[in-house]
Amino acid sequence: MVKLAYVQLAGCCGCLVSLADTYERLLEILDAVDLVYCQTLMDEREVPSCDVCIVEGAVCLNHEHMVEEVKEIERKADTIVALGACAATGNFMRHSRGNQRGRPTHEAFVPVTEVLDVDYAVPGCPPSPETIETFLVLLLEGKEELLKPFAELAKKTSYCGCDLMEEIINKSMCMGCGTCAANCPARAIEMIDGRPVLNKDRCIKCGACIVSCPRFLWIGDEPIIKAFDVGKVEEGGE
Ligand code: SF4
Ligand code: SF4
Repeated sequence: MVKLAYVQLAGCCGCLVSLADTYERLLEILDAVDLVYCQTLMDEREVPSCDVCIVEGAVCLNHEHMVEEVKEIERKADTIVALGACAATGNFMRHSRGNQRGRPTHEAFVPVTEVLDVDYAVPGCPPSPETIETFLVLLLEGKEELLKPFAELAKKTSYCGCDLMEEIINKSMCMGCGTCAANCPARAIEMIDGRPVLNKDRCIKCGACIVSCPRFLWIGDEPIIKAFDVGKVEEGGE
C-alpha cells in the first residue's frame, strides 16, 4: 500500500477543500493508501517516511518550523507533489508582504517548486476535484506516461496572466474560446471582441488561465506536447 503524507503550508486551504469535494471517490482513493500524515486529520507532529508527499501552499521563509518541515519532506518522501497554484507557482502568496495580524514578520513566500525537487505539480486555484481525482488515480496506478504533463509543470516555478498574453495571445495562437477567462478565479480576464483582455491589477499569478488554454501544450522551449512524444513525424522525416 502506498504511504501518503499530506502537508499544508501557507495558503488558504482551498486545495484541501477541493480534495474533500471529491466525496465518495476520495474514500475509494483513501482505501488504496496508507495515510501517514495530515495535520487536519491526524495528531502527528513529524512527517514520517513516505512514498508520496502531497504539499499544499507556499513556503514562508521567515517561518522556522515551516522551513524545517520542508527539509523533512525532502529527506522523507520518495515522490513530492505540489498541489495547487501556491505550491506550484506561488500564486497570491507571492504578493504577501508581512503585517498579518499575529505574524507581522512573515513577508517572504515562495512556491514549493522553488525550494524542493518536485516530481509533479497539479495546477489550479484551487485545482478542480476532477483534476485532483484524475491525478491521484494516475499516480496510484503508476501511469507515468500520462503523468508527464504534471511532471513538466513541476519544472515551471511561476506563471501569471502576462505569460498568457506573451506566449499565446501576442503570438497569434489564441482562437478565442474563452477558457482562460472562465478559469480565472480573480476575474482578471475579460473577453472583448472575441479576444482575452487582461487586467494586470487583478491578477493573483495563479497560472490557471495559461494552463487551461488549449494552446498551452504547444508553448515553451520544451513544449509539454513533447511529453507525449508527439513529434515522431519530424523524426520520421515526413
Ligand atoms: S484559452 Fe487560450 S485560446 Fe482560449 S481565449 Fe484564452 S488565450 Fe485564447
Ligand atoms: S489572469 Fe487570472 S487565471 Fe491568469 S494568472 Fe492571473 S489570476 Fe490566475
